[in-house]
Amino acid sequence: MGRIVLDKVKKTFGEVTVIPPLDLEIEDGEFVVFVGPSGCGKSTLLRLIAGLEDVSSGQIRIDGQDATNVAPAKRGLAMVFQSYALYPHMSVRKNIAFPLKMAKMEQAEIDRRVDSAASVLNLTPYLERRPGQLSGGQRQRVAIGRAIVREPAAFLFDEPLSNLDAALRVGMRLEISELHKRLATTMVYVTHDQVEAMTMADKIVVLQAGVIEQVGSPLTLYHTPRNKFVAGFIGSPR
Ligand code: ADP
Ligand code: MG
Repeated sequence: MGRIVLDKVKKTFGEVTVIPPLDLEIEDGEFVVFVGPSGCGKSTLLRLIAGLEDVSSGQIRIDGQDATNVAPAKRGLAMVFQSYALYPHMSVRKNIAFPLKMAKMEQAEIDRRVDSAASVLNLTPYLERRPGQLSGGQRQRVAIGRAIVREPAAFLFDEPLSNLDAALRVGMRLEISELHKRLATTMVYVTHDQVEAMTMADKIVVLQAGVIEQVGSPLTLYHTPRNKFVAGFIGSPR
């Protein structure tokens, strides 16, 4: 579970083509990072996968099923928003439980999933606190917890650490990588930060103006960048 295939996926906003037809395969359990400069279409691509934007043409398949016109909540994916998307008036427990409440899940199952996610994320002592009483890193973990309880086929992250300070960011990178190892679930992670891409990815997708410049492992891209753009962005100096 968690294989995502983009087949000639294209996105235009009005007259502007942001993503020309693009093919991409994300394997089950892979940690894939979309990297590229601001405005290159990373968020748009992630939102197309999530279903938060409609494709202009092409097909998105999730685990072999055509998901192109499937509603976001029915795709089996969980988007992790930045921690400021938490509800300040709700406890951590209620914030994490929120998507399950919305889905009208039985309370005993909600409690089981929230307790399990809290344990994985080391949030158990903080479940009755409000987001305002937590550190930035803890708040980010609550945002991740809210995704975990949905037991998604894949997690989608859009620059989740960009509003954390540098020291915290390094710690959270490690935590997300650890989480990936533990859950073995597909993760698609958007960043404009080369270090984040190099340290977290199984596979990096380098984007420029909506076009994939290269796809490969961090080592492949570092040692054999296909062009000057990739080399300048993450390759070794040559
Ligand atoms: P990134 O996440 O890589 O910074 P985005 O995917 O947010 O890039 O944006 C890619 C391009 O698409 C930008 O030129 C942006 O202005 C444009 N864009 C994104 N969303 C919209 C929208 N809803 N309407 C019009 N243009 C958009
Ligand atoms: Mg973006």
